[in-house]
Amino acid sequence: MSRIEELFGSMVFNDVVMQERLPEDTYAALKRTMEVGKKLDPAVADVVARAMKDWAIEKGCTHFTHWFQPMTGITAEKHEGFIHPMGDGTVIMKFSGKELVKGEPDASSFPNGGLRATFEARGYTAWDPSSYAFIKDNTLCIPTVFYSYNGEALDKKTPLLRSMELMNKQTLRILKLFGNEEVTHVTTSVGPEQEYFLIDRELYRQREDLILTGRTLFGAKPPKGQEMENHYYGAIKPRVYAFMQELDDELWKLGVLAKTEHNEAAPAQHELAPIYTNSNTATDHNQLTMEMMKKVAERHDLALLLHEKPFAGVNGSGKHNNWSISTNTGVNLLEPGESPAENAQFLLFLVAVIKAVDEYQDLLRISVASAGNDNRLGGNEAPPAIISMFLGDDLTEILHSIEAETEAAHADQSEMKVGVHILPRFIRDTTDRNRTSPFAFTGNKFEFRSLGAPQSISAPNVILNTIVAEELSQFADILEAAEDFQTALHQLIVDTVKAHKRIIFNGNGYAPEWVEEAKARGLLNLPTTVDALPYFINEKNIQLFTKHKIYTSEELHSRYEIYLDTYTRTVEIEALTMIDMVSKKILPACIQYSDLIGHSLAQKKNLGLSCDAEEGLLSRISNHMSTLYQKNEALITAHNRCPKEDPLEAATYYRDTILPLMAALRQTADALEMLIGEEYWPLPSYTRMLYSL
Ligand code: ADP
Ligand code: MG
Repeated sequence: MSRIEELFGSMVFNDVVMQERLPEDTYAALKRTMEVGKKLDPAVADVVARAMKDWAIEKGCTHFTHWFQPMTGITAEKHEGFIHPMGDGTVIMKFSGKELVKGEPDASSFPNGGLRATFEARGYTAWDPSSYAFIKDNTLCIPTVFYSYNGEALDKKTPLLRSMELMNKQTLRILKLFGNEEVTHVTTSVGPEQEYFLIDRELYRQREDLILTGRTLFGAKPPKGQEMENHYYGAIKPRVYAFMQELDDELWKLGVLAKTEHNEAAPAQHELAPIYTNSNTATDHNQLTMEMMKKVAERHDLALLLHEKPFAGVNGSGKHNNWSISTNTGVNLLEPGESPAENAQFLLFLVAVIKAVDEYQDLLRISVASAGNDNRLGGNEAPPAIISMFLGDDLTEILHSIEAETEAAHADQSEMKVGVHILPRFIRDTTDRNRTSPFAFTGNKFEFRSLGAPQSISAPNVILNTIVAEELSQFADILEAAEDFQTALHQLIVDTVKAHKRIIFNGNGYAPEWVEEAKARGLLNLPTTVDALPYFINEKNIQLFTKHKIYTSEELHSRYEIYLDTYTRTVEIEALTMIDMVSKKILPACIQYSDLIGHSLAQKKNLGLSCDAEEGLLSRISNHMSTLYQKNEALITAHNRCPKEDPLEAATYYRDTILPLMAALRQTADALEMLIGEEYWPLPSYTRMLYSL
């Protein structure tokens, strides 16, 4: 075995380990639980727990934790020792089935959006056997869901699992209609491409804004930005390369299929892409990847930035969510087929996605909405805030001809009407890579590109799964009731294309004309998080989620409140950080530097020398300083007037009043940075941060 083969998954209680360590009947019972969600017998859970513990202790573990994904967006863990007192002053290492299956972390300080009154601030975690347990920091981590006393979901995993189950159910109905009895389970697959910035840790330490908010709130434009476009795919610098190698090792140990590492478009920006896997595992793995990236970077004296827009003027960081539908027989249902029947089935799935994206533009937009991502979406570097779909010219052409088709045109094609003669074999659209589209068909998968780099991929996948499953369920209802399947199928595809083709846009999403055209087409344009969030709880969406039991109405409202609150708090922290930096760092530095110029000026005047430079500089700096002081005071005053009661009102105020004041304050500070000597400016410059590795 090669080093990597041996390393890969060495910290994962995976199938191989289970087969090795579990009695045959226990393994079989666990497999059933993993695959079809059958409830696990407590006796079986005990056996599994013991095997897990023994394995973990052999690997040096002393603790276990229920690892979960609360609404904070990061993962949470509470470590518990395996030790169990014997009553005679000694301990044994113990881990019971009960401890494996259920946990009871104190949940009062996790966001719940009003779901849990404090008197019952109890939360429970429950084992998710469909995601492997793993070892991190000498701790056995059990992936779990997190819910309230009343059973409401408090996390990002529960709705994802619900939505995957829904996709399974509805897709199987469709497959059955096509005569496919072989497939017994369908899952959605995801490959998230992860962008990030790497800078020297020492410079990071000197930036309060990066430490507290993840992005630079000040910083004059460097003489060289990314105009030259010479970083993308460029040679990787030795320090970065060493980091990437160690990161790969750490991820491989955890069974994460890290595959590709390369430089991205902006200076100091990079990307990591894993091989795709099922949505649940992909989500867990992406959380682990983000955590591990930061950790490994620290070991290399680097700071890894995951913010959507750490630096103004250069590209921000996103995440591409590559999504497809896979059967347990190994077929990707979004892969155009070889035969007419396969093609008809492919077309049905395709139009289901088209209809879903068109009808639920608002939900897709919301699934990527955050204060951070507002700095990026629509910024000529990332997809616009308008949701549309790229299919490429070939596929669009095919849909047009299907739509235009008359019965007569293919009267001879009796046995299979849909697109037989026009869908001989797909040309994979790999050359036409439209980077400006938020949602692109890329040959055999859809790539949702609007995600921000730090966000959990859970929400976008919950939405994708739910909206596509809803359309599939509508299709199945129609087709199951049809007298003639072929005719009904043909009609359904034609009707769906006709009704929803407005969502297809293959042009340049960055062009200003697109905004106009999208408006004419009746597409939604929700530029900010505050514009988008209220749609989350409109009647149509409540209907959708409750019908399919993805969210209860209470869960929806709680999430809506959490999202609004997160937005407001994010902007508030940024505003307070700016005020702090101006008052304690930037203004004092300006005063010091002015003082220096003042001294030089006085001296030179005494000697009768020319002091144009000092006079000019001092006057310009003084003017900017007055403005800076006034703008800082204005921000302080505005912050004190923030409405506190209604969450939507508060968020709106932060967007409309606070953010513009912050932008104005930055403008003056950045102008001052250009006038003050580098040694005197209290913050590392963009040039140093972006080019020092
Ligand atoms: P790009 O050119 O955008 O980097 P790639 O073909 O390299 O595209 O794939 C990017 C990501 O898409 C990877 O994470 C890859 O595993 C994932 N991917 C490939 N095929 C599928 C699929 N069928 N379903 C989901 N994700 C996929
Ligand atoms: Mg991509």
